[in-house]
Amino acid sequence: MAETQRKETILSGMQPSGALHIGNFEGALANWVRLQNDYWMFCCIVDWHALTGSWRDTRAIKDQIFLMAVDWLAAGLDPEKCAIFIQSDVKEHAELHLLFSMLITVPTLTRLPTYQEKKDSLDSYGFLGYPVLQAADICLYAANKVPVGKDQEKHIWLAADLAKRFNATYKKTLVEPEALFTEVPVMPGNDNRKMSKSYDNHIPIEYTDKQTEKRVKSYFTDPKKLRQGDPGNPDTCPVFLLHKVYSDNPEAEVAPDCRSGALGCVDCKLKLSARLNERLRPIRDRRAELVKRPDDVWDILQVGAGRARTRAESVMDKVRSAMKINYRKKKK
Ligand code: ADP
Repeated sequence: MAETQRKETILSGMQPSGALHIGNFEGALANWVRLQNDYWMFCCIVDWHALTGSWRDTRAIKDQIFLMAVDWLAAGLDPEKCAIFIQSDVKEHAELHLLFSMLITVPTLTRLPTYQEKKDSLDSYGFLGYPVLQAADICLYAANKVPVGKDQEKHIWLAADLAKRFNATYKKTLVEPEALFTEVPVMPGNDNRKMSKSYDNHIPIEYTDKQTEKRVKSYFTDPKKLRQGDPGNPDTCPVFLLHKVYSDNPEAEVAPDCRSGALGCVDCKLKLSARLNERLRPIRDRRAELVKRPDDVWDILQVGAGRARTRAESVMDKVRSAMKINYRKKKK
């Protein structure tokens, strides 16, 4: 579809820092897959952002980019509907990052909670400037909306502020982006914290049925339900939370039997892993197919980068012109 037929643009990004899990899927990807029908979408594998954590040892990054592309495609992102690409394939991200870095003060960045949380372990200039690069990622595509969780709200605000500041200093050029909040479930890991690969409490999409079952069996449940027959409390149980996402009618089919004690935790977990495996099967099948065709996946990323570059180059032409730093006439 021609770009002009789309009303609004969305930029979504994810760091290629390991295999995707069902938290990433339910919390982000499934939403992107829905959004690709209504917006012009740019889905960016933000490899330069991943370097803030893994700059010393970069050996894994290429595989992680590939597997992220595979997971995205398997989950239903359609390269016909959205540009799927690698950040570092579009060098304009770095250029706009540099220009934006002039428009923001260091204390504005050091005050951000995300910086405060990790500054003891990550104190590089690159990590400090991370939200500025993120602002560049967004503004480079004239994105109106960015689908994010509440934890990213300040970063989107910062991107909008930078666009506003740029427009006020030079000339109205950049779109001021907004966060697009969608109700998404926060998926619990097996230790009842938020599912995250950094806690190793996650269920990767690439798991086999057996591995999934094993992980589900390792979940914390209601600590007061010790023996089969003990009554349980589904309202505080992470396994029930997952039932709410994956089972058809958990309030009727799981909760009453948990409360009465008729349903033991082992059976409840088996029920869940069966549902989960059923739901993930088509994604896993597509994944297995795509892994066999690496050249096709890299081609999709290249085509996506081409599309992204077209948009980015046109925005950067306007940016340079607004700043009067386009010194030469463009060769036709
Ligand atoms: P991780 O914590 O595993 O490294 P990321 O921080 O890379 O995951 O998250 C990538 C995307 O997936 C983000 O949009 C984030 O909001 C979403 N996400 C991550 N974990 C969860 C979760 N447990 N529940 C819902 N969404 C999640």
